Amino acid sequence: MQISPVTAQTIMAGVIGKPVAHSLSPMLHNTWLAARQIDGVYIPLEVGENDMEEAMKWLVKVGFRGCNITIPHKERALQLVDEVEEVAESIGAVNTIVVQNKKLLGFNTDAYGFWENIKPKIKDKEATLSHAVVLGAGGAARAVVYALKKAGAKQIHIIARDPQKAESLAEVSEDITISECSDLNLHLSSASLLINTTPLGMKGKEASSWDLVRLSKDALVTDIVYNPIQTQLLRDASTRGNAVVDGLGMLIHQALPGFEAWFGQRPELQNIDELKQELITRGGLG
Ligand code: NAP
Repeated sequence: MQISPVTAQTIMAGVIGKPVAHSLSPMLHNTWLAARQIDGVYIPLEVGENDMEEAMKWLVKVGFRGCNITIPHKERALQLVDEVEEVAESIGAVNTIVVQNKKLLGFNTDAYGFWENIKPKIKDKEATLSHAVVLGAGGAARAVVYALKKAGAKQIHIIARDPQKAESLAEVSEDITISECSDLNLHLSSASLLINTTPLGMKGKEASSWDLVRLSKDALVTDIVYNPIQTQLLRDASTRGNAVVDGLGMLIHQALPGFEAWFGQRPELQNIDELKQELITRGGLG
């Protein structure tokens, strides 16, 4: 039996969230580390809301190169870092922290990950971005809307169970509109892109029950939930003949900038389908 020792030189990074045990990020980063024989480790760190400030100080003190931030701390992390990059500032959330000269630098790579994931599936960019319908208005929706605007989306419609909470998203641009869930049908017939950013359909959460009957067969459908890999929304959309994109690619793409900053190498993604299959099998995402 061979035990690989953690040494004083071992580069440390991790993911902070609560709960965090379900996160696939440790499996993903440690797979990349092993494949590149990098002396590094990436660990899940369960931290509650009241301990976030202390955890941030602790990261620097014990020599972490940085971390990812997941639910529910992305907005809080924005307040706790020393410097924030422009994208994270605009989105209003930090999902990646890099420690540099004992300072915490905050980034957001969710928008990048979202766009890189769906880009290869888009045949006609102008047509697909003509009318995007976003389900949900939480932290991930903010990153998705940012990515869509950057990519040139003409019209974005947000479906929120509490439209008031989503108002700040509409302030980003006048072509962003909001309505409540019961209005979904009105918007589906003209939608060219449908994105679920709610946790509905996620393992252990409520099942989704979006009725897609009015959705055009030409619309691209994506779900940022990746456990299970084929959510009810994606299954329903596929059955109707719509092209679909699962959320696992977003997780993989959003992880790249952090990995590169902490461990000094950027993994190539030529074999992303192989990597996805490995995560699906080992992570039990069936
Ligand atoms: P969040 O900030 O809690 O936002 C969730 C949104 O969904 C809120 O607008 C919430 O509405 C809405 N929602 C929740 N339950 C609903 C329901 N039953 N019906 C209608 N709307 C509902 O969470 P988040 O950070 O945006 O994350 C959302 C999901 O995306 C999570 O499942 C997360 O794992 C996933 N995600 C995936 C990736 C990836 O890399 N693939 C990256 C980020 C996030 P209220 O505001 O009214 O509660």
